[in-house]
Amino acid sequence: MAKEWGYASHNGPDRWHELYPIAKGDNQSPIELHTKDIRHDPSLLPWSASYDPASCKTILNNGKTCRVVFDDTYDRSMLRGGPLTGPYRLRQFHLHWGAADDHGSEHTVDGVKYAAELHLVHWNPKYNTFGEALKQPDGIAVVGIFLKIGREKGEFQLFLDALDKIKTKGKEAPFTHFDPSSLFPTCRDYWTYHGSFTTPPCEECIVWLLLKEPITVSSNQMAKLRSLFSSAENEPPVPLVGNWRPPQPIKGRVVRASFK
Ligand SMILES: [Zn+2]
Repeated sequence: MAKEWGYASHNGPDRWHELYPIAKGDNQSPIELHTKDIRHDPSLLPWSASYDPASCKTILNNGKTCRVVFDDTYDRSMLRGGPLTGPYRLRQFHLHWGAADDHGSEHTVDGVKYAAELHLVHWNPKYNTFGEALKQPDGIAVVGIFLKIGREKGEFQLFLDALDKIKTKGKEAPFTHFDPSSLFPTCRDYWTYHGSFTTPPCEECIVWLLLKEPITVSSNQMAKLRSLFSSAENEPPVPLVGNWRPPQPIKGRVVRASFK
Protein backbone atom coordinates (compact mmCIF):
# COMPACT_ATOMS: atom_id res chain seq x y z
CA MET A 1 0.00 0.00 0.00
CA ALA A 2 1.04 3.60 -0.58
CA LYS A 3 2.52 5.24 2.51
CA GLU A 4 -0.65 7.20 3.23
CA TRP A 5 -4.03 5.50 3.58
CA GLY A 6 -7.04 6.85 1.73
CA TYR A 7 -10.12 5.75 -0.17
CA ALA A 8 -8.68 5.14 -3.65
CA SER A 9 -8.00 1.64 -5.05
CA HIS A 10 -4.26 1.80 -4.29
CA ASN A 11 -4.67 2.89 -0.64
CA GLY A 12 -8.35 2.22 0.17
CA PRO A 13 -10.22 0.12 2.76
CA ASP A 14 -9.28 -3.22 1.12
CA ARG A 15 -5.59 -2.45 1.69
CA TRP A 16 -5.59 -0.77 5.10
CA HIS A 17 -4.71 -4.07 6.83
CA GLU A 18 -1.32 -4.08 5.09
CA LEU A 19 -0.16 -1.27 7.37
CA TYR A 20 -2.82 -1.66 10.10
CA PRO A 21 -3.39 -5.39 10.74
CA ILE A 22 -6.20 -4.76 13.24
CA ALA A 23 -8.29 -3.64 10.22
CA LYS A 24 -8.93 -7.38 9.77
CA GLY A 25 -9.71 -7.86 13.49
CA ASP A 26 -12.80 -9.37 15.10
CA ASN A 27 -14.46 -6.10 16.17
CA GLN A 28 -14.32 -3.88 13.12
CA SER A 29 -16.75 -1.15 12.06
CA PRO A 30 -18.93 -0.27 10.30
CA ILE A 31 -21.36 -3.20 10.04
CA GLU A 32 -24.63 -3.95 8.32
CA LEU A 33 -27.60 -3.72 10.69
CA HIS A 34 -30.37 -6.26 10.05
CA THR A 35 -33.17 -4.94 12.23
CA LYS A 36 -35.21 -8.17 12.30
CA ASP A 37 -32.26 -9.89 14.05
CA ILE A 38 -31.69 -7.14 16.63
CA ARG A 39 -33.16 -7.70 20.08
CA HIS A 40 -34.48 -5.02 22.40
CA ASP A 41 -32.42 -4.97 25.61
CA PRO A 42 -34.61 -3.54 28.42
CA SER A 43 -31.50 -2.93 30.55
CA LEU A 44 -30.30 -0.24 28.11
CA LEU A 45 -30.83 3.21 29.62
CA PRO A 46 -31.63 6.49 27.89
CA TRP A 47 -28.58 8.57 26.99
CA SER A 48 -28.04 12.32 27.27
CA ALA A 49 -25.52 14.88 26.06
CA SER A 50 -24.70 18.14 27.80
CA TYR A 51 -22.41 20.10 25.51
CA ASP A 52 -20.79 23.48 26.25
CA PRO A 53 -20.88 25.45 22.96
CA ALA A 54 -17.84 27.44 24.15
CA SER A 55 -15.77 24.23 24.21
CA CYS A 56 -16.01 24.12 20.41
CA LYS A 57 -12.67 25.36 19.09
CA THR A 58 -11.72 24.80 15.45
CA ILE A 59 -12.74 23.23 12.17
CA LEU A 60 -10.22 21.53 9.93
CA ASN A 61 -9.83 19.71 6.61
CA ASN A 62 -7.34 16.86 7.01
CA GLY A 63 -7.80 15.63 3.45
CA LYS A 64 -9.93 12.68 4.68
CA THR A 65 -12.86 14.51 6.30
CA CYS A 66 -13.81 17.81 7.89
CA ARG A 67 -13.52 17.70 11.65
CA VAL A 68 -14.74 20.03 14.40
CA VAL A 69 -12.49 19.92 17.46
CA PHE A 70 -13.51 20.55 21.09
CA ASP A 71 -11.57 21.42 24.23
CA ASP A 72 -11.43 18.12 26.10
CA THR A 73 -8.91 19.08 28.79
CA TYR A 74 -11.64 18.85 31.42
CA ASP A 75 -15.28 17.75 31.72
CA ARG A 76 -17.00 20.39 29.54
CA SER A 77 -19.03 18.63 26.84
CA MET A 78 -20.23 15.28 28.10
CA LEU A 79 -22.13 12.19 27.03
CA ARG A 80 -23.79 10.00 29.65
CA GLY A 81 -26.10 7.03 30.01
CA GLY A 82 -27.19 4.57 27.36
CA PRO A 83 -24.80 1.60 27.36
CA LEU A 84 -22.05 3.70 29.00
CA THR A 85 -20.77 3.00 32.50
CA GLY A 86 -19.65 6.59 33.15
CA PRO A 87 -19.40 10.04 31.56
CA TYR A 88 -17.45 10.51 28.29
CA ARG A 89 -15.90 13.76 26.98
CA LEU A 90 -16.59 15.07 23.48
CA ARG A 91 -13.32 15.41 21.52
CA GLN A 92 -14.41 15.94 17.90
CA PHE A 93 -17.05 15.29 15.31
CA HIS A 94 -16.69 14.59 11.60
CA LEU A 95 -18.64 13.09 8.70
CA HIS A 96 -18.42 10.42 6.02
CA TRP A 97 -20.21 10.95 2.70
CA GLY A 98 -20.51 9.76 -0.87
CA ALA A 99 -20.03 11.14 -4.36
CA ALA A 100 -23.83 11.27 -4.79
CA ASP A 101 -26.92 11.41 -2.56
CA ASP A 102 -27.73 7.68 -2.81
CA HIS A 103 -24.78 6.46 -0.72
CA GLY A 104 -22.15 7.67 1.71
CA SER A 105 -23.02 6.26 5.14
CA GLU A 106 -20.75 3.62 6.65
CA HIS A 107 -23.30 1.61 8.62
CA THR A 108 -26.28 0.36 6.61
CA VAL A 109 -29.76 -0.41 7.95
CA ASP A 110 -31.58 -3.29 6.24
CA GLY A 111 -29.54 -2.60 3.13
CA VAL A 112 -30.22 1.14 3.15
CA LYS A 113 -27.25 3.42 2.58
CA TYR A 114 -27.81 6.99 3.76
CA ALA A 115 -26.25 10.06 2.12
CA ALA A 116 -23.84 10.63 5.00
CA GLU A 117 -23.01 9.63 8.56
CA LEU A 118 -22.05 11.98 11.37
CA HIS A 119 -19.70 10.68 14.09
CA LEU A 120 -19.40 12.38 17.48
CA VAL A 121 -16.28 10.99 19.19
CA HIS A 122 -16.10 10.95 23.01
CA TRP A 123 -13.51 9.38 25.34
CA ASN A 124 -13.64 7.97 28.82
CA PRO A 125 -11.68 10.28 31.15
CA LYS A 126 -11.15 7.46 33.64
CA TYR A 127 -8.27 6.49 31.28
CA ASN A 128 -6.67 9.94 31.79
CA THR A 129 -5.74 10.63 28.15
CA PHE A 130 -7.36 10.10 24.76
CA GLY A 131 -4.32 8.02 23.75
CA GLU A 132 -4.79 5.67 26.71
CA ALA A 133 -8.53 5.40 26.03
CA LEU A 134 -7.75 4.15 22.49
CA LYS A 135 -6.22 1.02 24.05
CA GLN A 136 -9.34 0.09 26.06
CA PRO A 137 -12.41 -1.79 24.80
CA ASP A 138 -14.67 0.87 26.37
CA GLY A 139 -12.31 3.80 25.88
CA ILE A 140 -14.32 5.62 23.20
CA ALA A 141 -18.04 6.24 22.65
CA VAL A 142 -19.20 7.34 19.22
CA VAL A 143 -22.70 8.63 18.55
CA GLY A 144 -23.49 7.90 14.90
CA ILE A 145 -26.23 9.84 13.13
CA PHE A 146 -27.47 9.10 9.62
CA LEU A 147 -28.15 11.96 7.19
CA LYS A 148 -30.89 11.49 4.63
CA ILE A 149 -32.01 13.82 1.86
CA GLY A 150 -35.06 15.99 2.40
CA ARG A 151 -35.67 19.36 3.96
CA GLU A 152 -32.73 21.64 4.68
CA LYS A 153 -31.47 21.55 8.29
CA GLY A 154 -30.71 25.06 9.56
CA GLU A 155 -28.35 23.98 12.34
CA PHE A 156 -26.29 21.98 9.84
CA GLN A 157 -25.92 25.11 7.70
CA LEU A 158 -24.01 26.86 10.53
CA PHE A 159 -21.39 24.14 10.16
CA LEU A 160 -21.48 24.11 6.34
CA ASP A 161 -20.92 27.88 6.16
CA ALA A 162 -17.59 27.37 7.93
CA LEU A 163 -16.35 25.03 5.18
CA ASP A 164 -15.44 27.97 2.93
CA LYS A 165 -12.49 28.62 5.24
CA ILE A 166 -11.14 25.07 4.98
CA LYS A 167 -11.57 24.18 1.30
CA THR A 168 -8.26 22.36 0.95
CA LYS A 169 -6.26 19.76 2.88
CA GLY A 170 -4.38 21.15 5.87
CA LYS A 171 -6.59 24.21 6.38
CA GLU A 172 -7.87 24.95 9.87
CA ALA A 173 -10.02 27.83 11.09
CA PRO A 174 -11.55 28.98 14.38
CA PHE A 175 -15.06 27.62 14.88
CA THR A 176 -16.80 28.14 18.19
CA HIS A 177 -20.13 28.61 19.99
CA PHE A 178 -21.55 25.56 18.24
CA ASP A 179 -23.62 22.97 20.09
CA PRO A 180 -23.61 19.69 18.13
CA SER A 181 -26.66 18.48 20.04
CA SER A 182 -28.55 20.90 17.76
CA LEU A 183 -27.95 18.27 15.06
CA PHE A 184 -29.58 15.42 16.98
CA PRO A 185 -32.85 13.93 15.76
CA THR A 186 -35.92 14.17 18.01
CA CYS A 187 -35.98 10.49 18.90
CA ARG A 188 -33.19 9.13 21.10
CA ASP A 189 -33.68 5.43 20.24
CA TYR A 190 -30.39 3.72 19.43
CA TRP A 191 -28.62 0.50 18.51
CA THR A 192 -25.40 -0.36 20.31
CA TYR A 193 -22.50 -2.76 19.70
CA HIS A 194 -18.76 -3.00 20.27
CA GLY A 195 -16.62 -1.96 17.31
CA SER A 196 -13.79 0.13 15.97
CA PHE A 197 -12.84 3.40 14.37
CA THR A 198 -13.70 3.25 10.66
CA THR A 199 -10.40 4.91 9.72
CA PRO A 200 -6.85 3.63 10.28
CA PRO A 201 -5.51 2.52 12.63
CA CYS A 202 -9.08 1.11 13.19
CA GLU A 203 -8.58 0.64 16.95
CA GLU A 204 -11.22 -1.67 18.53
CA CYS A 205 -12.12 0.64 21.39
CA ILE A 206 -15.59 1.90 20.54
CA VAL A 207 -18.97 1.62 22.18
CA TRP A 208 -21.22 2.60 19.28
CA LEU A 209 -24.55 4.40 19.80
CA LEU A 210 -26.20 4.48 16.39
CA LEU A 211 -29.33 6.58 16.36
CA LYS A 212 -32.32 4.96 14.69
CA GLU A 213 -33.84 8.20 13.42
CA PRO A 214 -31.87 9.91 10.65
CA ILE A 215 -31.67 13.69 10.39
CA THR A 216 -32.69 15.37 7.17
CA VAL A 217 -30.48 17.66 5.10
CA SER A 218 -31.04 19.05 1.62
CA SER A 219 -29.34 17.90 -1.55
CA ASN A 220 -27.80 21.40 -1.78
CA GLN A 221 -26.34 20.97 1.70
CA MET A 222 -24.79 17.65 0.67
CA ALA A 223 -23.33 19.36 -2.42
CA LYS A 224 -21.66 21.90 -0.13
CA LEU A 225 -19.95 19.07 1.77
CA ARG A 226 -18.70 17.70 -1.57
CA SER A 227 -17.22 21.09 -2.49
CA LEU A 228 -14.26 20.35 -0.18
CA PHE A 229 -10.97 19.09 -1.62
CA SER A 230 -8.77 16.23 -0.45
CA SER A 231 -5.84 17.97 -2.15
CA ALA A 232 -3.75 20.81 -0.73
CA GLU A 233 -3.94 24.38 -2.00
CA ASN A 234 -0.80 24.00 -4.17
CA GLU A 235 -1.90 20.67 -5.73
CA PRO A 236 -4.26 19.80 -8.62
CA PRO A 237 -7.77 19.86 -7.09
CA VAL A 238 -9.29 16.50 -6.07
CA PRO A 239 -12.84 16.55 -4.62
CA LEU A 240 -13.19 15.15 -1.09
CA VAL A 241 -15.92 12.54 -1.64
CA GLY A 242 -16.37 8.83 -1.00
CA ASN A 243 -14.68 8.86 2.41
CA TRP A 244 -16.67 5.90 3.76
CA ARG A 245 -15.54 2.41 4.71
CA PRO A 246 -17.84 -0.45 3.64
CA PRO A 247 -19.39 -2.79 6.25
CA GLN A 248 -17.06 -5.28 7.92
CA PRO A 249 -17.75 -8.87 9.10
CA ILE A 250 -19.91 -9.03 12.24
CA LYS A 251 -17.98 -12.10 13.54
CA GLY A 252 -20.57 -13.15 16.12
CA ARG A 253 -21.03 -9.79 17.75
CA VAL A 254 -24.43 -8.89 19.18
CA VAL A 255 -26.19 -5.64 18.34
CA ARG A 256 -28.75 -4.51 20.94
CA ALA A 257 -31.62 -2.04 20.57
CA SER A 258 -32.75 0.44 23.22
CA PHE A 259 -36.30 0.24 21.85
CA LYS A 260 -38.96 -2.35 20.97
ZN1 LIG B 1 -16.03 8.48 11.46
